[in-house]
Amino acid sequence: MGKKRFLAVLSFLLIFLFAAGCTQRPSDHLDPAPVHEAETGTGISKKTAPDDSGGENGPASENATGTEQNKGNQEIQEKGKAGGGPSNILSTMKVHYIDVGQGDSTLIQFSDGDEDYTILIDAGTWQRTDVVEYLQSQKVTTIDLAIATHPDADHIGQMDKVINQFNVGEIWLSGNTSASRTFQRLLEAIDNNNTDYYEPRMGEEFEIGPLQIDVLYPKTITGKNNTESISLKLTYGDVVFIFTGDADRDAELTMLKSGFNLNGDILHIGHHGSNTSTHPSFLQAVTPSIAIYSAAEGNSYGHPHAEVVNLVQSSGIKLYGTDVHGTIIVSTDGKTYTVTTKKSGKVTAGTRSGTAKKPESAAPSPSPSTSPAQAPPSKKEQESKPAPANNNCINLNSASAGELQRIIHIGPARAKQLIELRPFSSVDDLQRINGIGPSRLKDIKSQGLACVGG
Ligand SMILES: [Zn+2]
Repeated sequence: MGKKRFLAVLSFLLIFLFAAGCTQRPSDHLDPAPVHEAETGTGISKKTAPDDSGGENGPASENATGTEQNKGNQEIQEKGKAGGGPSNILSTMKVHYIDVGQGDSTLIQFSDGDEDYTILIDAGTWQRTDVVEYLQSQKVTTIDLAIATHPDADHIGQMDKVINQFNVGEIWLSGNTSASRTFQRLLEAIDNNNTDYYEPRMGEEFEIGPLQIDVLYPKTITGKNNTESISLKLTYGDVVFIFTGDADRDAELTMLKSGFNLNGDILHIGHHGSNTSTHPSFLQAVTPSIAIYSAAEGNSYGHPHAEVVNLVQSSGIKLYGTDVHGTIIVSTDGKTYTVTTKKSGKVTAGTRSGTAKKPESAAPSPSPSTSPAQAPPSKKEQESKPAPANNNCINLNSASAGELQRIIHIGPARAKQLIELRPFSSVDDLQRINGIGPSRLKDIKSQGLACVGG
C-alpha cells in the first residue's frame, strides 16, 4: 500500500472526525477506533458514522436496462445507467466467484490510480488447493483484506495457505470458532504471520480506495456459525454487491429490519442456494439483477434447492451457479457491468441423491440452530466425514489407526500422529509426519495404498 494513498485516506478520516465532533458528542457506539487502520497501514479506513446522504457517487441508477448477449461460452449482461454522469471515473473492478466445488471463495480486484487493491472473501474447502492456484493464476501477490465469513471448513478451507503464501494485510473473522483442525490451522497462520485481525460488526463502514464496505451482520455472536456469517454490502460507484456467507433467513430478516438499504445489483446467494437462506422478503429488498451461488455439481445436499431456484428465476433475476457455469466473473466500472462465465450452462435445482441424505449443517427445519452448542458439531462432522468409499485405498483422513498401519512405514506411533495431523490434502502431505521424508514417501506412493478423501 503506497504511503500517499494511505495518508490521503487518513486525512479524510481526520477531517471527517473533526466534522463529526462539531455536531455531536462521541458516544460509545460511535467509537471511531481509528487505531485499527492506523496500525495496519493497509488502507482500510473505517468511517465513524453512517452517511446515508448518498455520498459523492449520487443515487444508484433506478431503471437498469438489462441486455444480454451470448458470445460462445460467455454470457454478458450489461446494466445501463439512467443518466446523470458520475463525478469520478472508476477503473474496472473484477469480482471472481471462483469455482471451488462445494464451498465459497470470491476474489475482488480493483485499482485507484497507482494503487491496486485485492480482497478475498472466503477460501474454499480444506480438501483442495484451487483457491491458492486461482490466486496464482491471477498473479495475486498481496491481499489487502481477507474475510472469512464464518469458521466452517468449506469457507476457511485454504485460508491458512492463503495467509502463509500471500502477503495478507488484514483478516476479518466473525469471532465464532470451530473445533476443526482447519480452523486451528487458520489461527496458527494468523499468529505466525502476525496478520492484523478484526471482527467487523453490523453498522460499521469501511473504505478501501474507492470501494465502500458496509457490514450488514452480525451484530453480536452467540456461536451460530452459519447464521452469524459476516455479511457485507460492497458499493463501487453505482454498482452494489451483497455477500451473506451462509447466513440464514432469520439473519436476512434481521438485516432487513435493521434499516439497511439492501438494494443491490449482484447478490451472492446465501448458503450455496440452500432453502435455509434467501427469504423472499430479503430477495425483494435486494432486487438484484443477477444472483450467483457457489456449489459443486451433483452435490449431495441438493444445492441449489428448488425453492430458491424457483423464487429467484420467477422474480426475473438471472441466476448463475459455479456448478454449471464454472468460475463467474463480474466486471464493472461502477456504472455498468458484464458477467463472464467459464462455461455455458443452465441452472437447475439440485437433487438429494437417494442414498446420500447427509444431514446439512443447517437442516431444512428452521428450529435446530437455537442452541449455540449445536451449531459447530454438525459441521465438524461434515468435515471429518470419510470420502466416498474407495475399496482400493486407505483414506488418510478417515481410516482407523489399525488400517493406517497397513501403509508402509506407518506403525502405531506414526498412525497416532497422522490422526492428530488430519486433515491431509494429499499423500505428499504425509511429510508433515516425523520421520517421513521424500524416500519413505516414495515407498508409500509406490505401495499405492494411501489416498486422501475429497
Ligand atoms: Zn458453506
